[in-house]
Amino acid sequence: MLRSEKNVLCIEAHPDDAEFLCAGTLALLRERGWQVHIASVTPGDCGTVQYSREEISRIRKGEAARAAAILDGQYHCLESDDAFILYDRPTLLKAIAVVRKVRPTIVLTLSPSDYMVDHETASRLAQTACFCCGVVNIATPGAEPFEPIPHLYYTDAVEGKDKFGEAIRPSMVVDITGAMATKEKMLCCHESQRDWLLKHHGMDEYVAMMQRLGAERGKMGSVSFAEGFRQHLGHAFPQDNILRKELGTLVHTF
Ligand SMILES: [Zn+2]
Repeated sequence: MLRSEKNVLCIEAHPDDAEFLCAGTLALLRERGWQVHIASVTPGDCGTVQYSREEISRIRKGEAARAAAILDGQYHCLESDDAFILYDRPTLLKAIAVVRKVRPTIVLTLSPSDYMVDHETASRLAQTACFCCGVVNIATPGAEPFEPIPHLYYTDAVEGKDKFGEAIRPSMVVDITGAMATKEKMLCCHESQRDWLLKHHGMDEYVAMMQRLGAERGKMGSVSFAEGFRQHLGHAFPQDNILRKELGTLVHTF
């Protein structure tokens, strides 16, 4: 079965990763008629010092759904636990199932090299889920296989560096200056995380952190704010840059 054309899916580890790393690009695609889906592998059940895992999971899934709703988008959760995102059969089947349900043309996921293993594992899960979405001998009840393999892009790593502190240079940046207000509004839906940092840092570090990386990447395209990406160009994946086709001069390649 073939997919519908204008669906974009972000596969992240935690409920607020998308807002930090690619919500601006999602907002620009939404403006151009794309349907947005955001899936986190965990509900962010360790992102608290005051709630139980069940309570914070419920709170954070609600926050993520409200953020996605700003783009008329849908939020999905694969229900792994924080710090325990495993590259195993059950998790992979859930990742393949969400890709098959959404039938995306574009998938955005985290950097394969990042500051924590949850991020790196979510990235690997997304890669295999894209590769296997059309493999009919992998059964995902209720979610039919489809072809072709989606265009896959990796976002920046957190703070733009790997675990050795080396800068990870994106191969393209998307000028999100016009979508920055929407991105900030989405990020601020994650009130539990913002309040937590406010308490610990005494400043709005949550929003400031997102703005810093945006401004840093903006310099690469000589614009105010940008998001960086690398495209997965391995065997069998689409080789054309669909983000550039859709977003035109907002995309700067290197
Ligand atoms: Zn994260």
